[in-house]
Amino acid sequence: MYPIASHWLNYIDGEWLDSESRLTVNNPGTAEPVATIAQASIADAERAVQAARRCADSGALSSVRPAQRVTWLLRIAAEIRAVADEGAWVLCQENGKSLNDARDEFTEAARYFEYYAGMADKIEGTSIPLGNGYMDFTLYDPMGVSAQIVPWNFPVSICARSLAPALAAGNAVVIKSPELSPLGMCVLLRAIANAGLPNGAVNLICGRGREVGSHLVGHRSVDQIVFTGSVPTGQTILRDAAEHAIPSVMELGGKSAAIAFADADRQQLLASVKGGIFFNAGQVCSAMSRLLVQREIYEEIVESVVELAEGLSVGLGQDNPDLTPVVSAGQLASIETLCRRAIDEGAVAATGGEAFSDRAGHFMRPTVFRDVSPEMCIAQEEVFGPVLAIIPFDTEEEAIAIANGTEFGLVAGVFTQDISRAMRCSRRLKAGQVFVNEWYAGGIETPFGGVGLSGFGREKGQEALYSYVRTKNVAIRVAGE
Ligand code: NAD
Repeated sequence: MYPIASHWLNYIDGEWLDSESRLTVNNPGTAEPVATIAQASIADAERAVQAARRCADSGALSSVRPAQRVTWLLRIAAEIRAVADEGAWVLCQENGKSLNDARDEFTEAARYFEYYAGMADKIEGTSIPLGNGYMDFTLYDPMGVSAQIVPWNFPVSICARSLAPALAAGNAVVIKSPELSPLGMCVLLRAIANAGLPNGAVNLICGRGREVGSHLVGHRSVDQIVFTGSVPTGQTILRDAAEHAIPSVMELGGKSAAIAFADADRQQLLASVKGGIFFNAGQVCSAMSRLLVQREIYEEIVESVVELAEGLSVGLGQDNPDLTPVVSAGQLASIETLCRRAIDEGAVAATGGEAFSDRAGHFMRPTVFRDVSPEMCIAQEEVFGPVLAIIPFDTEEEAIAIANGTEFGLVAGVFTQDISRAMRCSRRLKAGQVFVNEWYAGGIETPFGGVGLSGFGREKGQEALYSYVRTKNVAIRVAGE
């Protein structure tokens, strides 16, 4: 347990700055206030963009020897590890997530900086043969100023996921933290501020999305937008970005399906269901929100999943239960609304379906819907809560059609002992990442991103680095050859 400061600040141009208005951050487990944070104004956003612009234009990040960026990134990683326990406590209190998961976010954040430190001095172009009389090569220039908008569900690790490759490639960054869970990111920034980067290289502002967020994404001095969040907000941002044709990375929502064939290993499957839909109270873009089960094992699997859901421990994040509260009263209300619509459409809540009425915080009952058909809202819309829809299927063909039958395409899963079937399904599933026999297999090293309404661009892995550079080709006529 760590004391939490009562008021937190924005970080702009190397300084921690207050502003005239404040946002209150509440503990989702108790609905009590945790602290306040300076609410950035448009003037603050402007100051942050100008600081990043000056830093980018000065070449302080991009023109140094790349080994210097390696040193900075490794120093950041070490500083993050040093604040991980304190940061985890703050994140757990403001967000509701379990203390262990909050700590994992800080460890993962450090890993992103270590991973991209390893790439910062290896952003190598190619030489392209054009025959005698020509020399041709490619350069990877940084974008310049990268505006990064972060959601509340994994604020610390998502922030690091975009920031680390952006810095490795030599960009200056303005980050907008989410209104609901901004404090853990301030601890992360404190660590980054200790690493000795030039002023303006990293700026953090917390403010309302529709004001300062939209000011950032429409700004002429911003060269790139990296957005992680909901589909409607992503669509609004894309419209704003279109005004100046600003390149964007869009990491949006999902309605991801696991396909369980009759030969699936039951232990692997149930462990994956537990992590897939109940981890972080289901508030995960790549949650396993649909489980497609081959008909001959449907009743058995429904029964096991219901037993699993009813056996989950529920409580405050600091006690590391299986199921933690959702982030806000608004989030809880939207989950309950979708559950009511599912019931109206004929889905059966085999367990759950409503909030806990006897708890002070925002606790949703772990919910399992059975008898779900693919066109129902509960099989089509993102819930962003601990709610699983179980859908029966007969053939592989039918399973693929149901899995691919939403507008999303973030991740998908296949559970089978038949490797050929796993390979066939992996090819045919419309998703940026396919898990076989373990949901969330993969890691910071594996590229991640969506197709369809789940977005575009890739984060994580070596591939993500190339989201943060522009390719420039230099074609030279050589005299005398
Ligand atoms: P959200 O879209 O409501 O908000 C995300 C961020 O955008 C917040 O910081 C918010 O202040 C800001 N914002 C809001 N309006 C804006 C505007 N007009 N211009 C600029 N910024 C604006 O999303 P959320 O509720 O915070 O997060 C949940 C959503 O995020 C879910 O849909 C989830 O699937 C998605 N998500 C996706 C990924 C991924 O990697 N694909 C990861 C985590 C979350």
